[in-house]
Amino acid sequence: MMSVKPTKVIRWNVRCTDNGHNAVTYVLAGDSYGRLLGRTAKNELAEFNSWEASDVYEEIEEFVQHLLGRDHGTSDCFRRILGAVCDPAPSGELYDFTGKVWCPICGSPNVEYGPDEPPVFETIALTQVELSKWGQLTSKSLKRGMIKEALSRVRKA
Ligand SMILES: [Zn+2]
Repeated sequence: MMSVKPTKVIRWNVRCTDNGHNAVTYVLAGDSYGRLLGRTAKNELAEFNSWEASDVYEEIEEFVQHLLGRDHGTSDCFRRILGAVCDPAPSGELYDFTGKVWCPICGSPNVEYGPDEPPVFETIALTQVELSKWGQLTSKSLKRGMIKEALSRVRKA
């Protein structure tokens, strides 16, 4: 069951340097502290709200800190593994929470992007990420294993 929330966003123009496509995508507007926008190469967007999912957020954060052996400077790693913890997008791709932008038309990573001047605000129906996969992990060790695997993939990339 997918939940969708009206969300204030800033429109970004994306120009594809490979194929000359012009398209738009969005980033979160306003106070986005604790909120992360996930994106796929197919321009599927979803929000992870660490306030609303605070127990999951704290749980993942704790595993990441423990596995990395430090309790600060871990937010970058958190962003990079979050997609593996969340349910995939409708296309089957995992969301990327690092702020990476692809061409919304062909999925090329070779893009130039940014807001209009002045920025254009819109309200869109934004999907909220689902965490059913994570919720089905019944023990701490299964959860730890999932984070560990996601971290090792990040480190190789
Ligand atoms: Zn393109």
